[in-house]
Amino acid sequence: MKVFVVNCGSSSIKYQLFDMTDESVLAKGVVERVGSADALLEHTAKGMTTKQQVVAPDHSAGMKLIFDVLVDAQLGVLKSISEIDGIGHRVLHGGEKINQPCLIDDNVRDVIRENFLLGPLHNPANLMGIDAAIAAMPNVPNVAVFDTGFFATLPPHAFRYAVPSAWYTKYHVRRYGFHGTSHRYVTRKAAELLGKHAGEVNLITVHLGNGCSMTAVANGKAVDHSMGLTPLEGLMMGTRSGDIDPAVLFHMHSVGKLTLAQLDAALNKQSGLLGVSGVSNDMRDCLAAADGGNENAALALRMYIYRIAKYVGSYYTILPSCDAVVLTGGVGENSVAVRSWILQSLARLGVKGDEKRNGQTVRGKAGPVTTDDSTLPVWVVPTNEELMIARDTMVLVKGE
Ligand code: ADP
Repeated sequence: MKVFVVNCGSSSIKYQLFDMTDESVLAKGVVERVGSADALLEHTAKGMTTKQQVVAPDHSAGMKLIFDVLVDAQLGVLKSISEIDGIGHRVLHGGEKINQPCLIDDNVRDVIRENFLLGPLHNPANLMGIDAAIAAMPNVPNVAVFDTGFFATLPPHAFRYAVPSAWYTKYHVRRYGFHGTSHRYVTRKAAELLGKHAGEVNLITVHLGNGCSMTAVANGKAVDHSMGLTPLEGLMMGTRSGDIDPAVLFHMHSVGKLTLAQLDAALNKQSGLLGVSGVSNDMRDCLAAADGGNENAALALRMYIYRIAKYVGSYYTILPSCDAVVLTGGVGENSVAVRSWILQSLARLGVKGDEKRNGQTVRGKAGPVTTDDSTLPVWVVPTNEELMIARDTMVLVKGE
């Protein structure tokens, strides 16, 4: 069975084609700058990566270009596009109505549309991708996998905010949670690696990419999560502030004269590592700047680690027990230095870092980074959201 996985942003279409007999990736790539005059298609297949300028005035045109390259005589991996058995779409927000991967029909499309307000940047783009895929291949089943889905099991005392109840009942203000496909994937993988049943594992999963989030997992189910109504809450991120006192907004509105739009941009795009370091949103740049003596970069890194330690501590308290802390995402999977600081910051919980294991855990490798006698093990588990979506799609297409 071949499954095509799509992740549509407002101006990009990322894709991977899986052969599900062995879960290998046959081809992957991205169309960037969809909608502009100079769109770019980057395509990797058969060990080759090619880049070409393309004309992609909209998502439909971009999707058609991808299907064309998949059957191209030189760059392609399929004889015919009809070899694709199912298409899986990453969708940001399912609101409270949909929390399971599902076959896309008009009802599902309506729910994605209803949640445009809660996911204004992503849901419209996700729906464009779905419509483009349906238009290009009308007879192939399409599946939606929601980033919010894994968090449907959060209890009300974890997902409600202490604000007037009508904000929830009338305006749907609550914690939804994001990066769910990643947290779900690493939860299952960690259970497997720890020799536990997926429904019995207790974990704290920490996704550290450009966006950063943390989930408390009890008996394989999410019971708390750091992101909230939007992906702005919680840990410090590349450009997002994470937690702040909401009154900072009133203050910066009245004293700093910032408009709502400016506050939104400041907290989402100009804060986090970028805002504090003044250097970059990219962890590698911040690490290099701190190494070179930049004090603002060093402070940004200390704040980043401190916030992670505080969240792990609070999630440790609410879990019945904790089998492991799991680190994933670009930073969690690759940065020996950041992991080393995290390990040191968790010493009070009985974490004993193993620097040799940490140093040897390089890109793509799963394994513990603590000693065998560490009371609380810390593991690195590379995430694979696309594969999770491909598996979900296969199950639904097969009707298992
Ligand atoms: P996204 O959240 O967009 O999927 P990733 O999960 O790829 O992003 O994570 C991107 C982050 O990972 C960036 O901050 C990048 O600097 C960081 N990163 C990637 N490789 C390394 C590395 N070797 N050392 C430190 N940070 C790294």
